[in-house]
Amino acid sequence: MLKLYDTIIIGAGIAGATAAYMLTQQDQKVLVLDKKGIASGGSGAAGAFVSPKIGKGSPLQTLTNEAFSFAKEFYLKTCPEYFHQTGVIRLPKDEVDAEKFSEYEKFNDTAYEIYTKEKLDALGIQAHFNSFYFPDAGDCDAVAVCKNLLSDIDIMMVEVMVLHREDNAWIIVGQDALFPTIKAKNIILATGHESNLSDLRYMGIRGTWGTRGDFNTALELKVSMHQAMSVGANIDGILKLGATHEKEVKEVQPCREAEALSLKEKASALIETSDLALKELFCGMRAGSKDYFPLVGKVIDVAYMLEKYPEIVRGAKPEFSYVENLYILNGLGGRGFVFAPLMAKWLAQYIVEGKEIDKRVNADRLFLKWCRKTVGSI
Ligand SMILES: Cc1cc2nc3c(=O)[nH]c(=O)nc-3n(C[C@H](O)[C@H](O)[C@H](O)COP(=O)(O)OP(=O)(O)OC[C@H]3O[C@@H](n4cnc5c(N)ncnc54)[C@H](O)[C@@H]3O)c2cc1C
Repeated sequence: MLKLYDTIIIGAGIAGATAAYMLTQQDQKVLVLDKKGIASGGSGAAGAFVSPKIGKGSPLQTLTNEAFSFAKEFYLKTCPEYFHQTGVIRLPKDEVDAEKFSEYEKFNDTAYEIYTKEKLDALGIQAHFNSFYFPDAGDCDAVAVCKNLLSDIDIMMVEVMVLHREDNAWIIVGQDALFPTIKAKNIILATGHESNLSDLRYMGIRGTWGTRGDFNTALELKVSMHQAMSVGANIDGILKLGATHEKEVKEVQPCREAEALSLKEKASALIETSDLALKELFCGMRAGSKDYFPLVGKVIDVAYMLEKYPEIVRGAKPEFSYVENLYILNGLGGRGFVFAPLMAKWLAQYIVEGKEIDKRVNADRLFLKWCRKTVGSI
């Protein structure tokens, strides 16, 4: 049995799901493979806030907020029932942070209001400083969004061990009598923190571990908030608490109830938590890049480049050679649900129409520096 596709996407998190959706919108025949199923990696653990970035107008803030504007419209259009546009409040951590907020204000390039301490009090939020309220922001039901985006797309539960290319096509050979042999023109790697299917060292993909606890509660909380951790609004009697800061965790591990309870403890500085009862525990790894910008586009043929151009480690800048028809969508960091729709659209436009990938996210940006700094120092 042989199955033919335009593109195979490896990974069914929010990156893979949005890429599959965008490519099918462009009439591509797409297959998604995931070793554990839809949103089984970092995406399934995410609180999935979709909110803007605050700061002093850095290039990353500008890109994030461009992606935010696109993402909220995308979720409202594709799955309004799974995007809860509750608004998100950003609260300063302390007095120093509060001073920074006043500098940040002129760089708020999406709709916002200032919520005073009194206003926050009335909403049941204990706060000491003025905060930003972003009315268009909200959070997704992470798993439901991924499932919804993939609902009309072929998906198989398979762990891809190696990438194999033959006669100008990618081939996934049948693993048993029931498993078809699959051929495709393109492969997209959307594998999150697991980046061992090609030499992606130059992208510096690394995982940061996080935990989310969903708590049953009767607390009336209509708005979501973020202050070092995320506190979701009460949706159908459930409130989500989440944070991803643990860089020292290198491997996926069982979720720890103690982590969720410590999030509840931290949340008690913001809201009344006395009736919060842990209902479900999630944890996972989010994958970031070296410079915190997403990684989108082609994959450079590292072995070929290093062999053909040994002087690259001393600053030469030859033209890049790529692994044929191999693409990446990764490095979405702590904002996978914000970045994925726009990044997936750009990747789909590149693959189908040849439209150049935005330089800010093109994974090529990291290659020469990696050759000089890392390979060159070995
Ligand atoms: C606790 C927590 C809270 C978060 N909160 C937010 C938030 O509020 N807002 C936000 O925008 N983001 C949030 N994030 C970040 C967000 O989850 C990530 O940015 C997002 O998951 C990245 O998605 P992805 O598709 O790139 O990776 P993943 O979701 O990790 O998907 C990768 C998939 O690839 C599969 N895979 C890997 N290797 C193979 C292989 N060889 N063969 C087959 N399948 C393979 C895995 O099984 C996995 O399903 C949070 C993350 C965590 C952990």
